[in-house]
Amino acid sequence: APAPPPARHLFSDPSEVEALRRNLLAWYDRCKRDLPWRALAATEPDADRRGYAVWVSEIMLQQTQVATVIDYYTRWMQKWPTLQALAQASLEEVNELWAGLGYYSRGKRLQEAARKVVSELAGRIPRTAEDLQKLLPGVGRYTAGAIASISYGQATGVVDGNVIRVLCRLRCVGADSSSPAVIDWLWDMANVLVDRSRPGDFNQALMELGATVCVPKSPLCGECPVKQHCQAWRRKLFGKAPPVPDVEDCGLGDCPLCPPATEPWDSSLGVTNFPRKAAKKPPRAMRTATCVLERRGCHRAPEYLIVQRSSSGLLAGLWEFPSVPLAQDLQEEKEKEELADHLQAWTGWPVAAKALQFIGEVIHIFSHIHQTYVVYSLHLDGDVTLDPALSPSRWVTEDEFHASAVSTAMKKV
Ligand code: SF4
Repeated sequence: APAPPPARHLFSDPSEVEALRRNLLAWYDRCKRDLPWRALAATEPDADRRGYAVWVSEIMLQQTQVATVIDYYTRWMQKWPTLQALAQASLEEVNELWAGLGYYSRGKRLQEAARKVVSELAGRIPRTAEDLQKLLPGVGRYTAGAIASISYGQATGVVDGNVIRVLCRLRCVGADSSSPAVIDWLWDMANVLVDRSRPGDFNQALMELGATVCVPKSPLCGECPVKQHCQAWRRKLFGKAPPVPDVEDCGLGDCPLCPPATEPWDSSLGVTNFPRKAAKKPPRAMRTATCVLERRGCHRAPEYLIVQRSSSGLLAGLWEFPSVPLAQDLQEEKEKEELADHLQAWTGWPVAAKALQFIGEVIHIFSHIHQTYVVYSLHLDGDVTLDPALSPSRWVTEDEFHASAVSTAMKKV
């Protein structure tokens, strides 16, 4: 087994740990933001409703900003205030409410998990992080720890992006913070640090610190409630000269948590030397031809054809304008022909490529895909019958389009 990191990277002094908890919680009590899920977690007497309220918030907050989530969360809890209500919803309704929040499989899995709790666990949400992670689809280590600590008072730590940043700075962790070994050490630290009597508040405080003070660029170290425990801050203050030996790199070249010898501390970066990540793979480039197909509906109002994507993969189950993925580097004429063939299959009508009018290109970045939609339009006269053997499709007005389960990318189109 690899040697454990030197003690200076860990929280090995119990009196320092106590002081850090005290300072952080006092700051949290003074400065925490008012958020709807916090109010519910603090006041809801029913344990399952409390767990559900926290669970929904944690799933929505994955990869998504708090400011964006608030409105979605409020509408969700109004529509489905309990697990039982969510279990009875259709996936279509879930997707409609989720539309625009991104990472759509989150909503789907939340609903699947709600159904499982109702049908297999008698409506009782598991109370520990271990059981939550084991029994609920879509609930990983972080979400399980958050629900168990915030809703049920289990003294278990959590590690998310904010916590990674704070811990790496507190303990000068400069090794690749996305590597499994470093992540494991960060979990160990979070479990050592978590306050035994107020674990939920402590975890939220650590995340809140990362979200509002120890931010990625230009952290507000001067206002930080734990700066006296922060090795990155001390190192920044003292610069390169090492008046405090324990804040320098371990120097032996085999410390699992120090920056690699090839990328030492850069004094121009200060505390933002930490955390460090291996370079991300660039997103994959994809091109998709898409057609806004329009007809005159009742009272001559324009209607548009939307079709449903398959129930697995990217944007599963969402609706979109008829689209076809394109090979890279196709000539424009060839792209049009492919789209025309595709549309012909949908409508059962002959569609000539030259009838497609080029509108423009829309770029949308998914986490791992750089997607370019090449957008065309086509007006149809007369009634069109769609082949029911193909994926579900329907004609919608513009208002209905916006109320449907469509992705942000399609709204841009
Ligand atoms: Fe983050 Fe600065 Fe506080 Fe250290 S002192 S935890 S770097 S905000």
